[in-house]
Amino acid sequence: MNDVLIIGSGCAGLTAAIYAGRANLLPIVVDGYEPGGQLSLTTMVENFPGFPEGILGPDLIENMRKQAQRFGAVFKAGAITEVDLSKRPFKISVGEEHYETRALIISSGATARMIGLESEKKLVGYGVSTCATCDGYFFRGKEIAVVGGGDSAMEEANFLSKFASKVSLVHRRNEFRASKIMVDRARANEKVQFLTPFAVEEISDVSKGGVEYLTLRNTQTNEVKTLPVEGVFIAIGHEPNTKVFRGKLDMDENGYLITHHGSQTNVPGVFAAGDVQDHHYRQAVTAAGSGCMAALDAEKFLEAHKNT
Ligand code: NAP
Repeated sequence: MNDVLIIGSGCAGLTAAIYAGRANLLPIVVDGYEPGGQLSLTTMVENFPGFPEGILGPDLIENMRKQAQRFGAVFKAGAITEVDLSKRPFKISVGEEHYETRALIISSGATARMIGLESEKKLVGYGVSTCATCDGYFFRGKEIAVVGGGDSAMEEANFLSKFASKVSLVHRRNEFRASKIMVDRARANEKVQFLTPFAVEEISDVSKGGVEYLTLRNTQTNEVKTLPVEGVFIAIGHEPNTKVFRGKLDMDENGYLITHHGSQTNVPGVFAAGDVQDHHYRQAVTAAGSGCMAALDAEKFLEAHKNT
């Protein structure tokens, strides 16, 4: 029986582990499919306070992990396969391993949707990004592309136009899922050019370790052309990692966990932190902040439920 079990080892989960560890709660942290979360997929992080020269995402995560271990956090590999939240202690299964915990912190994050190209996977952090706020600054004065036709794509295109010399918004259809006002705003931006209906067939050049051009295919005529860019932002949505909690915890229509009074879910003793409950800010520092909140809330909850 554990006091606190934390699901996910990104920024939110690791911060929760540091705080829960320092409260002597000996947290168990289940790594999840993507140990380290989205930061482990980035290169330089320049907006996490405390690192004036920036820090590599994987280094930041490794530091947080060591910090949590120093205060007694125990890490378990694997992803959650089953949860029983119907009564306390909650029962959590990771394949053949079973845990019982008096409080649960869910920080399983959200995964950025990707186009699905091999080259895209290889160039993440080397010109391919899923976070304009994180990486826009690296593309000052450069030509870049944003892929997607939703509100995120419009917002990122506008945001990135502050840095880039030109932003090509590439979308596979002529119609947009984005709200009209967001499309109009992007259209009115003279640095943003719309390229529709085009699908990205290839991101080159993997052999040179960076983005040099995209191969685009017109989805109506099959015409193929290349677009020289030095960076590409994939803005085709995120999937919160909440499948295992469906029907067990309150979620919004997109599957994000709903929290209230800080980090509480609708089940007393279950708390949520980071991108799994935040589709708006999605920053390392906000995830870390909410991980801290969840650990403090869990500690308070355990204090108030000493004998259960
Ligand atoms: P979204 O609305 O689901 O849009 C995803 C876009 O990506 C769609 O245009 C979709 O194309 C395209 N797409 C999906 N899979 C693709 C693939 N494999 N290859 C190429 N394109 C692909 O996602 P979102 O823009 O991230 O928005 C998510 C939610 O957050 C929405 O409710 C949105 O309104 C909200 N949001 C609001 C704001 C704001 O109001 N300021 C800002 C950002 C997000 P198709 O249309 O062809 O399917």
